[in-house]
Amino acid sequence: MAHHFPDDAHSLKRRGMLFVLSSPSGAGKSTIARKLLADDAGLEMSVSATTRAIRKGEEDGRDYHFVDLEEFRRMAANDEFLEWAHVFDHRYGTPRAQVEALLDAGKDVLFDIDWQGAQQLFQIAGGDVVRVFIFPPSMPELRDRLEKRATDSAAVIDARMARAANEVSHWDGYDYVLVNDDVEACFQGVKTILAAERLKRSRQTGLIGFIRRLTR
Ligand code: 5GP
Repeated sequence: MAHHFPDDAHSLKRRGMLFVLSSPSGAGKSTIARKLLADDAGLEMSVSATTRAIRKGEEDGRDYHFVDLEEFRRMAANDEFLEWAHVFDHRYGTPRAQVEALLDAGKDVLFDIDWQGAQQLFQIAGGDVVRVFIFPPSMPELRDRLEKRATDSAAVIDARMARAANEVSHWDGYDYVLVNDDVEACFQGVKTILAAERLKRSRQTGLIGFIRRLTR
């Protein structure tokens, strides 16, 4: 007869994970993020608030909460952000309440934030953050992608290229680095990181109880 473990010995419990994906804008990060979210029911996006204008194809509440400067300032003063930063000429912030609700619901949370956000989150979470950086294959390739996207003016693209160089210079503040020269391969890489991080011993809660039941 097959041996049956009691139900609660079947699986380990785990704390929710903060998973940061950073890259220069145009390096394919949002495609990777979208694929990860579609692929994995245990992962949810933290939707940031921003003062920048909405772009074609974006949706308020899905891509960002688009707010004006006054509202952003009110939220910051009210301590509603886990972290916030100036990026380009705008402000971007991670609303605290959504992250807490997702963690309470047992979800892992995906953050599409820049190096400043990654750094702040790392400090707030006492280092318990997984930080992944995605490099573009090359800077000319990045410019090409930004131009093909055709949502920004030439001046904005120049500014984004300068910003990209700055973003790349903070690569050493990350735990994992990947080059996005092939979206599918890069996606598989990030998926592997997520899977491995979920299995880390330090993330399992109730491990002692589990082992006791298992070996009893
Ligand atoms: P975009 O305007 O292209 O959507 O985003 C510009 C940059 O802002 C990206 O590098 C993105 O990761 C970053 N960003 C978006 N939301 C946040 C946020 O809540 N906090 C921080 N620190 N950066 C953010």
